[in-house]
Amino acid sequence: MSRNDVIRRQFTVLAEAAETVATPQIRNVGTLAGNVCQRPWCWYFRNGFPCYKNGGNTCFSFGGENQFHAIFGGGPSYIVHPSDTAVALLALDAKFRIVGPAGERVLPAAEFFALPQRNPARENVLAADEALAEVQLPGLRAGTRSTYHKIMDREAWTHAVVSAAIVLEMDKQVCRSARIVLGGVAPIPWRLPKVEQMLAGERITEALAAKAAEAALEGAKPLAKNAYKVPLTKGVVRRTLLELAARG
Ligand SMILES: Cc1cc2nc3c(=O)[nH]c(=O)nc-3n(C[C@H](O)[C@H](O)[C@H](O)COP(=O)(O)OP(=O)(O)OC[C@H]3O[C@@H](n4cnc5c(N)ncnc54)[C@H](O)[C@@H]3O)c2cc1C
Ligand code: SF4
Repeated sequence: MSRNDVIRRQFTVLAEAAETVATPQIRNVGTLAGNVCQRPWCWYFRNGFPCYKNGGNTCFSFGGENQFHAIFGGGPSYIVHPSDTAVALLALDAKFRIVGPAGERVLPAAEFFALPQRNPARENVLAADEALAEVQLPGLRAGTRSTYHKIMDREAWTHAVVSAAIVLEMDKQVCRSARIVLGGVAPIPWRLPKVEQMLAGERITEALAAKAAEAALEGAKPLAKNAYKVPLTKGVVRRTLLELAARG
């Protein structure tokens, strides 16, 4: 996907997100559905602690090692959704075709991912006997440009500490509409509708990008060890917006 000409040209954000996943070896054997449906990488969950995700009734990260956990949408589990491509697909307003013994259904990406309040053991609405069969991308209007920016705690081979997928529909210098989704900050890809509204009909200036970055973090609730994500996310939103707006 990251090398496909059509995806690179039309759905740049998806190509760029796919390019940041893990390593070439892992990407070469992975699938898009597997990437979107991958389970969280919270160290307590992966090491078999009896937390919500492992069938228990507590969250060890809440009062424990929560450096890489959620600042939005957490509770009772505080995972961050691990998939880079999921963030891009939500920004592109993709649809997911789901199949199972009871038939099939098509859901917008926004309705596929589910917060832990709904079911702390799961990350999406798939039933145990359902599979994600197809991802559908909408046609984009002329003037649309997009990008994915990912911050990691090392140069490669790891998940996002914070990421941003931004899709702008531009009319010369003016933003007609925007879709902005954050990764690495919430149990689902985290969309920013209020920030999107701020940008619609405006020129994206330094001042507006800074205002958007402030608004992006409204309502953030950092845990004891991850408050650093607040200024980091602001920086990612501001810089990615300015960089994308400046692309001709
Ligand atoms: C060292 C390392 C680093 C990584 N870094 C990143 C990273 O930076 N960014 C990132 O996004 N990912 C990262 N990953 C995750 C990796 O990219 C995913 O594990 C991979 O994409 C999964 O692909 P797969 O097709 O092999 O899925 P599988 O491993 O086969 O499945 C993953 C999960 O999805 C479920 N699943 C698979 N296909 C479907 C389907 N069609 N419908 C429903 N459920 C399904 C499986 O049941 C399983 O729970 C990393 C993984 C490793 C090991
Ligand atoms: S954040 Fe989620 S996966 Fe991690 S310990 Fe808490 S309940 Fe388990």
